[in-house]
Amino acid sequence: MTTDEQLLLDLLNSTPLVAGVEQDRLKETAAWAETPGRDGRRALVAVRSALQNVVRGEEAPSALTPFLRDVRQVPAMTPDGVTWTLEAPAAHRTAIRAILAWNELKATKPGRLRPCENPECQLFLIDRSKANTARWCSMASCGNRLKARRHYEAKTRGTA
Ligand SMILES: [Zn+2]
Repeated sequence: MTTDEQLLLDLLNSTPLVAGVEQDRLKETAAWAETPGRDGRRALVAVRSALQNVVRGEEAPSALTPFLRDVRQVPAMTPDGVTWTLEAPAAHRTAIRAILAWNELKATKPGRLRPCENPECQLFLIDRSKANTARWCSMASCGNRLKARRHYEAKTRGTA
């Protein structure tokens, strides 16, 4: 996982449900620590929400357009050829890195970033399995819990 993929995943996963109540753990993320100022942090919260909706398929990617204002890729010629540097207002740079990491994943690993299938979980996962069949953000928390519950439900219906 690249640093920016981790940054994106941590940002997306900073609103976990605990006993059905949404928590806000944004302040515990590296993205928060790296984002200066009130304006930047407000933008980070907005980008998180937009990215969550886009990955859940509840909003079109164009929801991210407003955050890309004032962003430029600037070319420079080096002995090895052209290199590109991201230019963005310092306050928004981390949020923009998260958006670009999402874009990169979409392009290079389509469908791999998705919501956990546990309906009582609102975390996201990046599936790295060969078969692309991972369903849970974590087997330990969501996978086993759901399996146990299905087993219990099947049992109480008298079918197990
Ligand atoms: Zn989960």
